[in-house]
Amino acid sequence: MDRCAFCPRPATGKWALSACKGDAEDSASWRREILPLCPRCDALIMQAGDKGRVLKATGERWFGGHRVGRPQPKWTPAQDPNKEEPISASG
Ligand SMILES: [Zn+2]
Repeated sequence: MDRCAFCPRPATGKWALSACKGDAEDSASWRREILPLCPRCDALIMQAGDKGRVLKATGERWFGGHRVGRPQPKWTPAQDPNKEEPISASG
């Protein structure tokens, strides 16, 4: 059985969590994790709701679910029109 990510207790399941360290307005501060949690820590984080709960060990603020904070872009528009290869008939 996994151990709780936040304390030494055994975890009872894995939960979707979000962590914020630093500026909450900056999407780079946010991290999405699936972590094992014990019932106690799971309850603490769920009760904290939108305010989240700071883990003293790391200084990160944790939230339940993956919907809080700035959404992490799942893709980046890598297509740069200037770099687009022209179609060349001659090869
Ligand atoms: Zn715990």
